[in-house]
Amino acid sequence: MLRQMLLAASHHDAVKRVVENAPVSRGVVDRFIAGEDAGPALAATARLLSQGLSVTLDHLGEDTRDRERAAATRDAYTTLLSRLADEGLSHGAEVSLKLSAVGQFLPRDGEKIAQDNALAICEAAAVVGTTVTLDMEEHTTTPSTLAIARELRRDFPSLGVVLQAALHRTEADCRELATAGSRVRLCKGAYNVPEYAGFQARHEVDLAYVRCLRTLMSGDGYPMVATHDPRMIEIAGALAVRHGRSRDCYEYQMLYGIRPDEQRRLASAGERVRVYVPYGDQWYGYFMRRLAERPANVAFFVRSVLSK
Ligand code: FAD
Repeated sequence: MLRQMLLAASHHDAVKRVVENAPVSRGVVDRFIAGEDAGPALAATARLLSQGLSVTLDHLGEDTRDRERAAATRDAYTTLLSRLADEGLSHGAEVSLKLSAVGQFLPRDGEKIAQDNALAICEAAAVVGTTVTLDMEEHTTTPSTLAIARELRRDFPSLGVVLQAALHRTEADCRELATAGSRVRLCKGAYNVPEYAGFQARHEVDLAYVRCLRTLMSGDGYPMVATHDPRMIEIAGALAVRHGRSRDCYEYQMLYGIRPDEQRRLASAGERVRVYVPYGDQWYGYFMRRLAERPANVAFFVRSVLSK
């Protein structure tokens, strides 16, 4: 119930104004977000790479209703990619992109605009020798996001895409995408999903996650296991062994600020681990989803507000 309320609030302008203007201790937001501009995010990237981790950077933003802002987000990504190369970081860092930040929801030609902007970002990534992964958002966007991914993969076969275990359709999507060279990030799903589209109970989502993992690990693609859940991490490792995957044939992914000790533990055990590093001033939606995932985060946030 609390999760659903927080996720609904993540789209609510009045709540957004309250949260953004609350005297929130920077510590709460800073735990999950690397900074408000690219400088601190690149510094965090350098630090994580030096610890043997890989990185995917997210220039925060979503639900863009304005064409200029979509273009500005595209430009922020292309600038970020050239800065990654200038600072010698592009070998271990890629970028994650939400299509709704580059125009997917614009009223006319939204999908086409998003695809063109994503294409420009993929080109910039290829120039500096790295890749892009398309994040997955509300369940209503899944068909459009997968269709755009299919188009982009014609020119950029290493483009990654995210699938959400919470959706009923995802097992079939996993089967379709478990092909040679296909990079698939499997997550549980951070959005509200109606009953007709997805599983409601956490244990059902967990079981679906395991079924999807089986398909991806037994297939020919490159699974990216995005979870902090110790059981899922263990099962993924066992499946990788069962299917004879060497450690460069899959990777674990976790979010910046969540279970950092586990990130380092896995890396020092020889696993590939990529950290998702978000930055930017459009942190509200991302931050609310992190609160929704864990009631303890809400208590921490409320305590910080009250202590001001
Ligand atoms: P859970 O069962 O939620 O959590 C397991 C344990 O992890 C918890 O017990 C706790 O110890 C820790 N934990 C989890 N979340 C938090 C938190 N917020 N704060 C503190 N501790 C926490 N979702 C999408 O819908 N689309 C995407 O494109 C997407 N991309 C992602 C990329 C990466 C790299 C990762 C790691 C997640 C992504 N997610 C995305 C979010 C994902 O769907 C889940 O909402 C999130 O990862 C929590 O699920 P979990 O698998 O960690 O398991």
